[in-house]
Amino acid sequence: MRRSSPEQEREAGWEADAAAESLASETEEQLGLDAGAAGEPERPEREEQPKAVGRDPTPARRRAPEEGDARVRRPPPALPLAPPRPAARGLSQLVKARGRSRGRSYRRSSASVRPVTVDSSKARTSLDALKISLRQLRWKEFPFGRRLPCDIYWHGVSFRDSDILSGQVNKFPGMTEMVRKITLSRALRIMQNLFPEEYNFYPRSWILPEEFQLFVTQVQTVKDGDPTWRPTFIVKPDSGCQGDGIYLIKDPCDSRLTGTLHNRPAVVQEYIRKPLLIDKLKFDIRLYVLLKSLDPLEIYIAKDGLSRFCTEPYQEPNSQNLHHVFMHLTNYSLNIHSGKFVHSDSANTGSKRTFSSILCRLSSKGVDIKKVWSDIISLVIKTVIALTPELKVFYQSDIPTGRPGPTCFQILGFDILLMKNLKPMLLEVNANPSMRIEHEYELSPGVFENIPSLVDEEVKVAVIRDTLRLMDPLKKRKEIQSQQMEKPFASKEDLNCELAGDSDPNPEAHLPSICLKQVFPKYAKQFNYLRLVDRMANLFIRFLGIKGTMKLGPTGFRTFIRNCKLSSSSLSMAAVDILYIDITRRWNSVTVDQRDTGMCLQAFVEAFFFLAQRKFKLQPLHEQVASLIDLCEYHLSLLDEKRLLCRRGRPHQRNPPQMNRTAHSATGSSAPRVIGASKLSHS
Ligand code: ADP
Repeated sequence: MRRSSPEQEREAGWEADAAAESLASETEEQLGLDAGAAGEPERPEREEQPKAVGRDPTPARRRAPEEGDARVRRPPPALPLAPPRPAARGLSQLVKARGRSRGRSYRRSSASVRPVTVDSSKARTSLDALKISLRQLRWKEFPFGRRLPCDIYWHGVSFRDSDILSGQVNKFPGMTEMVRKITLSRALRIMQNLFPEEYNFYPRSWILPEEFQLFVTQVQTVKDGDPTWRPTFIVKPDSGCQGDGIYLIKDPCDSRLTGTLHNRPAVVQEYIRKPLLIDKLKFDIRLYVLLKSLDPLEIYIAKDGLSRFCTEPYQEPNSQNLHHVFMHLTNYSLNIHSGKFVHSDSANTGSKRTFSSILCRLSSKGVDIKKVWSDIISLVIKTVIALTPELKVFYQSDIPTGRPGPTCFQILGFDILLMKNLKPMLLEVNANPSMRIEHEYELSPGVFENIPSLVDEEVKVAVIRDTLRLMDPLKKRKEIQSQQMEKPFASKEDLNCELAGDSDPNPEAHLPSICLKQVFPKYAKQFNYLRLVDRMANLFIRFLGIKGTMKLGPTGFRTFIRNCKLSSSSLSMAAVDILYIDITRRWNSVTVDQRDTGMCLQAFVEAFFFLAQRKFKLQPLHEQVASLIDLCEYHLSLLDEKRLLCRRGRPHQRNPPQMNRTAHSATGSSAPRVIGASKLSHS
C-alpha cells in the first residue's frame, strides 16, 4: 500500500477548491444524476458500550463521561499553546512543533485594537479546541462568562443555553430538532417529492410507527416486481445517537421491528449494501459545514474532515452477520471498544483518519476526486436547502423582528457514506458534532486515559478557528469602515477611524489560509431553483401573525387564501376551512411538538401542494408548486404596493406572472420578495 505524504493529503483536501470551481461549470443534470441512495438531539458526547446490533450490549466495561461531566470542564492543556501552524503541516511535524512551542507565547500585534471577546462558559466538550483557536486568533476568552455583553457566545449544546440579547451565538434555534432522524427524513422527503432525482442521495426511509403499514406494502410491491431483490433495512431510533439502539433487519415483519413500533419512534431505512471499502473495511466521512447565515443563505464547507472506520472486515449483510456492529456501523464510539481499533497519530492510518488522506489514496488509484468533491458539495447544499425553511420558522419564533437577540451561525457535522460507485450518500446531520480533540486510550484492561488526538486536533481546531475568523465582528466593522473610506468625500469621523485603526495591516498574517470554502451563494445559480419550500416558508411566516408562534391559525390560513386570491367557485372558503382542519389534525397527531395548536409548516406545505395540483393540472409537481408560489407572491406584492400607494395616492400597474413557466426559472433570487421574509435578514 502506498502511503501518502502530508503534502499529497493537503492537495487532496484542497481539491475542494477545484471541485467547487468545476461545480460552477457543471450542468444541473450532471450534478444530480451520477449514480444509484438524522439528528443529534442535544447530544451528549458519550461513548456507547460495544454491542451486537439489536442485542443487549456486552457487559459494560466503562461508560465514557457525558457532556457536562467534570472531566469536560477540566483546565485546558498546558499554556501556552502551540503556535499557529501552516495549514499544510503534517501530523508528525505537528507533534514536534507542539513540543518545541511549549513555553512560548504571543504578544498582541496591536494594542490599539480591542480584541474580540468570546464567552466560552458553555462550550462544554468543545472547550479545548475553542481555547486553542482563541489563542491562535489572539482573542479574549471569558471562561466564566461576563457581565458585559461579549461579541461571540460559544455553546456546546443548544441555542437556549442562556438568554443572549446581542452579539453572535454558534447555534440556531431549532437546529437540534431539525436534524433529528425523523424531522430530517421528513424535510428530505418533501424535497424528494418535488425533485426526486436531485434528492436521491438520501436512502429511502419510512417513519415509524406511523408509516409501518406503508413500509410493509411498498417493500412487498417492489419484491413482487423483482423477486431477486433481497434488501436489508437499518432501524434507527429517533432519539438515538452514536449507534445507540440501531439494528439491521431483512424482513419488514421482523419481531424486533414490531417491538420498536410499540416502544419508540424510529426511522427504518434502506441499508446501503455496497459501500466503498478501504483495507476491506467500511468507513464513513464526517464533514464540517458552517451555516453562516440563514437569510441570505451562506454555506461553507471545511476542506478536510474525518473518516471513521469499522474494525471488522465488511461483508454484505446476511443472516449470520446482521448483528456484527463492528462490521456494519462506523460509529467511533462503538468501534473504539473493539479490540481491533487502531489509534494512530498519523493522518492516513488507523481507525480514524483525515478525509484528505482517503482522497489522496483514491486519487493514487485513479479516482476522479474532483467529481467526488463536487458531488459532496452538491449533497451538502441540497441538504441545507431542505432544512432552512423550517429553521426560518424557528428563527422568527425565537428571535422575532424588533426584539433584541443575537445573530446565529452553526457548525454542522455531515455524516456521509461513499458507495462503491463513489456516489456520496447522506446518513445524517449532527447539530452538535463532537469537537473533542482527545481520545480514550486503554492502558490496560478497564484502565483508560485521555490522550490528545492529533488527527482530531488538526481538523477540528482549524474548523473552529476559521469559523470564528469568518464571523469576526471587528472585521465586519472594519469592512464597513473601509467601504465608507472609499466615499469620495470622507467625513472627519472616517479620518479619525483611520487614525485610530489597526496598525497591523494584516492581523491574520500569522494564520494559515482559511480552511472553510464558501459554496453558497457562490453556486446559488445552480441550486436556487430547488428553494421552493423556502419560498413557501416565507409565505407561511407572513401569515403567522402573532410574534413567537410557529403554527398558522385558521384565520391566518383564510387570510392567506384570500390575499393570494386562491378561492374560486370551485374552491369555496368552506372547502378551505375543511382542508385546514383535515391536514392540521393529521399533522398534529404525528408530530410531538404540541407547543402551539394550528398548522405547522409541513402541514402548510401539504396544503400548498394540494392547491397547486388543483390549480395547475398536468404539470410535474415542482412546476405546479412553482407556479402557485409565483401567483401568491404576485398577488401579495400587488397588495403591498397598493397599500403603499394608497398612502401616497398614486395608481399602480403590474403585469401578472406567466403561469406556464418552468420551476427552474423560479429562482429564489429573481422572485419578488415576500415581506415576511425580510425580517430574517441577519447577515
Ligand atoms: P447515529 O446517530 O446513531 O450515529 P447514524 O444514522 O449515523 O446514527 O447511523 C449509525 C451508523 O450506521 C452510520 O455511521 C453508518 O455506519 C451506519 N448506517 C446508517 N445508515 C445506514 C444506511 N442507510 N446504510 C448503511 N449504513 C448505514
